[in-house]
Amino acid sequence: MYHDYTSYIKEKFGTRVQKIALNPGFNCPNRDGKIGLGGCTYCNNQTFSPFYGKTSTPIAEQLEQGIAFFSKKYKCQKFIAYFQSYTNTYADIETLEKIYYQALNNDNVIGLTVATRPDCIDENILKLLQKISKKYYTVLELGVESCYDKTLKMINRGHTFCQAENAIKQAASFGLELCAHLIMYLPGETEEMMLKTADIMSALPIKILKLHQLQIIKGTKMEQQFKENPELFSLPSAEEYADFVAKYVSKTRPDMIFERFISESPMQLIVAPKWNGIKNKEFLEKIKKRLDK
Ligand code: SF4
Repeated sequence: MYHDYTSYIKEKFGTRVQKIALNPGFNCPNRDGKIGLGGCTYCNNQTFSPFYGKTSTPIAEQLEQGIAFFSKKYKCQKFIAYFQSYTNTYADIETLEKIYYQALNNDNVIGLTVATRPDCIDENILKLLQKISKKYYTVLELGVESCYDKTLKMINRGHTFCQAENAIKQAASFGLELCAHLIMYLPGETEEMMLKTADIMSALPIKILKLHQLQIIKGTKMEQQFKENPELFSLPSAEEYADFVAKYVSKTRPDMIFERFISESPMQLIVAPKWNGIKNKEFLEKIKKRLDK
């Protein structure tokens, strides 16, 4: 068994809580030249921008639309505003405060999750999140992606693992609940290397882990690399990945909470691996069976 995020949140708030992905329209310093140009080689923000997340739509409205959509789909009345697209701390502090509170001012919103790069936080941002966390449930989600600098360089991530480690420790010193996002099966990483990251993450003050299998998405630099040098990639089948995830979970600190194990990008955007649109729920069944065994 392992701790899953849905149960953790249900227990904490006594009800199902739905995350509503939002797009505040901030760019990314790895795209606009501040840190790099062209972005991470696997990045296509279309894969995680909701249909209502148009940057021209104000945050309060995006939230209303998201809530209306999910309230029909599931019976839920509480929501977490999830600042997901691009780099959600990449603006001046006044703008960040204004945007976060636009979401928090909705009576049905119990808190927020802010996703960002490890090199895009500073003391002022952490102080703001700390202030928000005194009143609202607050998670800072850091895109660590890999624990290996060679990989980070290859995917043009624009930061090192040491920067991620320092960001995690700094954010933890502000008492924030931290989530780390990692991509598995990045080019050049063996199973042994990936499993080692379970120990590395376990030793850091991270409460929640999100793992994703690498997906090669249309229109990305990685699609081109995959076509030109397929031997660089070793992409697992869904069954192989489930075997791997079960080993990963078993190696991780027992109190770690897992929020996700797979990405579910739109089928029409996926170049590889093609898993026939497997859903998170089906994949969780595979993991449970393996862990029980
Ligand atoms: S994955 Fe995130 S950090 Fe990388 S280019 Fe895309 S938005 Fe920027």
